[in-house]
Amino acid sequence: MKTATREAEEGELAEDYPAHFPKTRCVFLDRQGRCGIQRLSMEQGRGDWFDKPLTCWIHPIVILPVNRERLRPLVTLVSPENDPQKKEGYPGFASCTHCGRPDQDGKKARQAREVLAAELEMMGKISGRDILGELNAEELD
Ligand code: SF4
Repeated sequence: MKTATREAEEGELAEDYPAHFPKTRCVFLDRQGRCGIQRLSMEQGRGDWFDKPLTCWIHPIVILPVNRERLRPLVTLVSPENDPQKKEGYPGFASCTHCGRPDQDGKKARQAREVLAAELEMMGKISGRDILGELNAEELD
């Protein structure tokens, strides 16, 4: 499932917009590049992400489903090497977006669990698991 899109008009796409992405914009994106669904949630006091699709508010975190090799769903980040949507002639999706690219400036690099703490905390509340606490634990058994 994804939100509807429309053709992007001249000047609406970011300078670093990935060349292999379709030249479209989500219909909920406003002229200032803000998510209209998030704005509505905030204006109505339901919290930043309450009405947004899951894949939108957790981005660039992904939940990889169970498969033959994976016995439990995996909450993770993807990289240019393992992006699940990568295929011949298509470099991938989550690892290519502005939020999902690896930080090229090592001096400013921060741990994903720090940058995405609010999202991880919310995922923990929904799932009944202290995901953020587990990630910040000194050592896991
Ligand atoms: S975050 Fe909002 S604007 Fe962006 S794709 Fe999702 S619904 Fe659309």
